Amino acid sequence: MNRRIGAFTAFMIIFCAIVLHYFALLNRSPIRIGYADSAYKVYLTFDDGPSDRVTPKILDTLKDEGVKATFFIVGKSVKDRENIVKRAYDEGHSIGVHSYSHDYKSIYSSPRALLEDIEKCNKTIEEVTGRRSCIYRFPGGSFGVKSQLVSAVTDAGYRYVDWNASVRDAEIVNATPQELVEAAKSSSTDRKTVVLLCHDTTDKTSTAAALSEIIGFYKAGGYKFYTF
Ligand SMILES: [Zn+2]
Repeated sequence: MNRRIGAFTAFMIIFCAIVLHYFALLNRSPIRIGYADSAYKVYLTFDDGPSDRVTPKILDTLKDEGVKATFFIVGKSVKDRENIVKRAYDEGHSIGVHSYSHDYKSIYSSPRALLEDIEKCNKTIEEVTGRRSCIYRFPGGSFGVKSQLVSAVTDAGYRYVDWNASVRDAEIVNATPQELVEAAKSSSTDRKTVVLLCHDTTDKTSTAAALSEIIGFYKAGGYKFYTF
């Protein structure tokens, strides 16, 4: 009798192991089993680049992780860094317009000034990638921008993109990578679609260092990665 129970137990353990292994393979991670058909989406977005020190590190991590992101670039920073923007584009990332000057006072002075700044940035994108972009991120977000400026952007054919989560790398002074990981996690709580704000300027080395763990967090939560 005991031998039969022992054999049955062994059979059940092996059976469960095979089933779990099957689902793990199916989902890459057992955590995703509950979300097999979920529409959990995350958009990683990087503003204010390119930079020599941080953007290539971010591109390396994205490549290693097999993940695509969106870069909202600053046109004036592209000079002598065309190869970095070209690399991002060639590796399948999305390149969007952020600003040419990133000078709030001048770009937000009138619809005309804003559109001129956007056009100048988009020309730079076109020169490097061969394609114009139709996505835009307002410096500082659209949240406090006058409605006539927002309308000017949409009337010009742009789709603008804000964010609903952040690594807070522009706010936390001398942030450690771990602080940024925690900020990404806490701001993503209960969100089925996450648009995560990050920066890739030269001082954001902690952002580059945190990225792999941040990506791992979303992967483990069953999120799929999208670009704009
Ligand atoms: Zn910015």
